[in-house]
Amino acid sequence: MDTAVSNLGVTTGEVILEFSYLLAAVFFVIGLKLLSHPQTARRGNMWAAAGMLLAMITTLIFHKSEAGGGIQMVNLIIILVAIATGTVLGSVIARRIQMTAMPQLVSIFNATGGAASALVALIEFSNPDNESTLVTLLGLVIGSIAFSGSMIAYGKLDGKVGDVFAGFMKYLNLFILLVVVLFIIYIMAGNTPMETQQVLVYVLLAVALVYGVTFVLPIGGADMPVVISLLNSFTGIAAAMAGFIYQNQAMILGGIFVGSAGTILTVLMCKAMNRSLLNVIIGSFGGGGAGVDREQGIVKEITASDAAVLLSYSSKVVIVPGYGLAVAQAQHVCNDMAKLLENEGVEVKFAIHPVAGRMPGHMNVLLAEAEVPYEKLVEMDDINPDMPNTDVVLVIGANDVVNPAALDDPSSPIYGMPIIKVHEAKNVVVMKRGMGKGYAAIENFLFFADNTRMFFGSAKDSLQKLVNEIKNL
Ligand code: NDP
Repeated sequence: MDTAVSNLGVTTGEVILEFSYLLAAVFFVIGLKLLSHPQTARRGNMWAAAGMLLAMITTLIFHKSEAGGGIQMVNLIIILVAIATGTVLGSVIARRIQMTAMPQLVSIFNATGGAASALVALIEFSNPDNESTLVTLLGLVIGSIAFSGSMIAYGKLDGKVGDVFAGFMKYLNLFILLVVVLFIIYIMAGNTPMETQQVLVYVLLAVALVYGVTFVLPIGGADMPVVISLLNSFTGIAAAMAGFIYQNQAMILGGIFVGSAGTILTVLMCKAMNRSLLNVIIGSFGGGGAGVDREQGIVKEITASDAAVLLSYSSKVVIVPGYGLAVAQAQHVCNDMAKLLENEGVEVKFAIHPVAGRMPGHMNVLLAEAEVPYEKLVEMDDINPDMPNTDVVLVIGANDVVNPAALDDPSSPIYGMPIIKVHEAKNVVVMKRGMGKGYAAIENFLFFADNTRMFFGSAKDSLQKLVNEIKNL
């Protein structure tokens, strides 16, 4: 679009474009702020999306190519067709996806973000006007790792890919990382003709893709949350690198926001899992080991009516939600039961483990959807000291996050991970369908403990039975 030129040599279009990027950045910040609370998160998403839409529209209208002209008609058509296809595909998938498959969808979106940034870097490497070779190569490597790593993470979350653990993987990963660094140094040195460099860049792309696979494959036990947040930050960093290549402030800022939010989440997840970040980057941890063989003991069952009596005559009840609650979509009936108990004068709290479910914040989102008041949600570190004074802990579809092997079995793949210490409560009632294992695929001896009773059945049906029984008391 033709616009007037000021006496500073800046066109009105350029001013509008820069101003729209600033406005988009403000929208991103507002969005991030609102995303920090479940009740405002939906609005936060809308603000951030509006910021991105604004940046996209103004770029299409006001961006000038290096040659000084506006966007070419043929490019405009290609871009609009790509946007329309992406919009249709994205909205159809997002509408159809089951809530339980959300973590897989997030992984795929993450992978596409990484792939897009890697492709930008690949194309722009041979552009003679591109002077940021290092940034381009880093964008290529980080974007490729985010892509292949997120695809493996998707496979693992969906149960299609198992853990592939071998002691040598740690060294293999270190070796591949070293190869990547050497390739970058060699290409940067620029001692080879451009045609050779282009071939080397393709080899670098392939090595980075392989690293994404070998880095995520061995991650097992309960350590996936750390990897998922790390891959998320990689996607953001790769997008910021792509922004640097194009000198586009909106892309740089958006990428930095995603990258830094992902990094903060990674640090929080490392803390929650009691792992070091170095271990995650080299990979190969948390897999292997199956824990010591112990005598299983006897499983004691409880009926709905006995559980209803136990809960109703308690003064303090703590509910520990886990992945099974999300699978059963039992959050609403769970809240109904909590309200019934409160009407009977029972104090009810929800204990939230940072990695319960399959996404960071999964349980918070699930319970917020059922309108469980936010102040009833208590974090693991705050609830644990209260456990010995708790009359009944109701574990609903949680397994790994309450497995005492994390505390007392050094051979267990989850050893060292902080857990909700439900075994210290006076009584524990575990609601699950059978004796199935959790994500870490290990036995949980909590189910055989003296103070534990098992309430078998799908969480939604079992909770509905409990609600009926409590009402009839
Ligand atoms: P787990 O995956 O350990 O256990 C879930 C349990 O729910 C299973 O043992 C299953 O037992 C039970 N279950 C399944 N369906 C139902 C149902 N319909 N009704 C009742 N119970 C059901 O869950 P946790 O939340 O305790 O732990 C989360 C795990 O996932 C951790 O290991 C964590 O590291 C990992 N993870 C977390 C991520 C995150 O970001 N939060 C990301 C990736 C992995 P049964 O079959 O007998 O019913």
